[in-house]
Amino acid sequence: MSDTTTTRLTRPAVPASDSRPGLSGLGQGVLEAWLQDHGQPAYRARQIRDGVWRQHAQTVADLRTLPAAVRSDLDAAFRADTIERDEVAVSDNGLTEKTLHLLGDGALIESVLMHYPARAARRTSAFASTGRGAPTAEARTEHRERHTLCISSQAGCAVGCPFCATGELGFGRDLETAEILDQVRHAARRMAVRGAHLTNVVFMGMGEPLLNLDRVLEAVVALSDPERFGLGSRHVVVSTSGVVPGIRRLTALNPQFTLAISLHAARDPLRDVLVPLNRRWPVAEVVAAARAHARITGRRVSYEYVMISGVNDTDLDADALGALLHGDLAHVNLIPMNPVAHTPWQASSPQRVAAFAARLRQAGIGATVRANRGQDAGAACGQLAADRAGEPAAPAVAHRREEIVRQSEAALRGDRSVDRLPADLQAAVDVEPAPAARGSR
Ligand code: SAH
Ligand code: SF4
Repeated sequence: MSDTTTTRLTRPAVPASDSRPGLSGLGQGVLEAWLQDHGQPAYRARQIRDGVWRQHAQTVADLRTLPAAVRSDLDAAFRADTIERDEVAVSDNGLTEKTLHLLGDGALIESVLMHYPARAARRTSAFASTGRGAPTAEARTEHRERHTLCISSQAGCAVGCPFCATGELGFGRDLETAEILDQVRHAARRMAVRGAHLTNVVFMGMGEPLLNLDRVLEAVVALSDPERFGLGSRHVVVSTSGVVPGIRRLTALNPQFTLAISLHAARDPLRDVLVPLNRRWPVAEVVAAARAHARITGRRVSYEYVMISGVNDTDLDADALGALLHGDLAHVNLIPMNPVAHTPWQASSPQRVAAFAARLRQAGIGATVRANRGQDAGAACGQLAADRAGEPAAPAVAHRREEIVRQSEAALRGDRSVDRLPADLQAAVDVEPAPAARGSR
């Protein structure tokens, strides 16, 4: 059962343990098999799916089209909702709603709902053309109202990017498919009350989606299934910090969703520091995998680039990025760093971001500057959950800052001062093929 609350969510002292799978995460055929085992007609699967996806059922009791006996059996086997409670923080004059979700075992995860009002079509953009005179799909959709939900794929994250609040939390656990999808159902329910619906879902919340890829793929299938959420795959973005085997796996599936690569630096010494996974899969390998993805799927890859003042925002960095992506089917999103506790860094100035974007465009690379959302609600990725995890001791904070400063200074000089993965990140990627095997591909 779930409810939206204004009280402060904290981890319960004794986490509840409920091993019943969530209804929203059941793959095709599972529900049908269960109904057959219980002597029920196959059409009940449709009734249950409608209850879960159209009526956004919170409890099995909400599935009113089912006979009471079936509801009781269903309740014994499955959970209608894997999220226990929500705490919503609204910011940006109502345009951003950040939700902290409490899961059954006490884990806290986040999702962020961002509203983009319709903008009056400007003549120049409305007729931005493909070169053949027709307005592009992008030019047409850019001005429609959008409601984008950013969801988590893991509780915490093992990658440990030093500018990211989730990274500082460390890894908790992979989310179940239903836990990923129930974030979407909760937002959809809030939207339905207002007579609106979600238009986009992006895997850019807590966690590294490609290190929980099976469940993320199951979730994407459910999102685009017309009998379940029914959102076109083209309205879904999956973002990765560069898990190369995962990118290759995605490419082989030829998905219709957009792949986003969190690059943040075009040079290895700097990316080793900003995205520690780079020590395992360096820039050239990540970009080669992304390039192959664009070539094989025909879909443009997005590169995310968090702008950190004096660290990765110089003209030299822009030129390195321009040279790296030259000629690729790619687009760069520049995101001024959201302020995060315990880092020595700040966002680049708007002037620096604009100059960086202009330099990229001169090099023939499409670039968009993204506005920060929800800063007044602490809405940088993972910030609310980090807040609830409590303050690290002052010496630990000071040590972390010293380490980041030391490593980033070395990186700015061009030294690869760090080459090994931290132990917990090593464990997280150990399920992937060993580096020695990579050379053969
Ligand atoms: N782990 C995946 C997806 C979740 S992070 C990834 O890294 O791609 C989603 C995006 O938020 C990433 O591009 C990440 O770099 C960005 N991000 C994290 N912390 C940020 C901060 N403090 N300011 C701006 N963007 C941030
Ligand atoms: Fe993990 Fe992404 Fe945050 Fe890096 S930016 S720590 S990969 S969630």
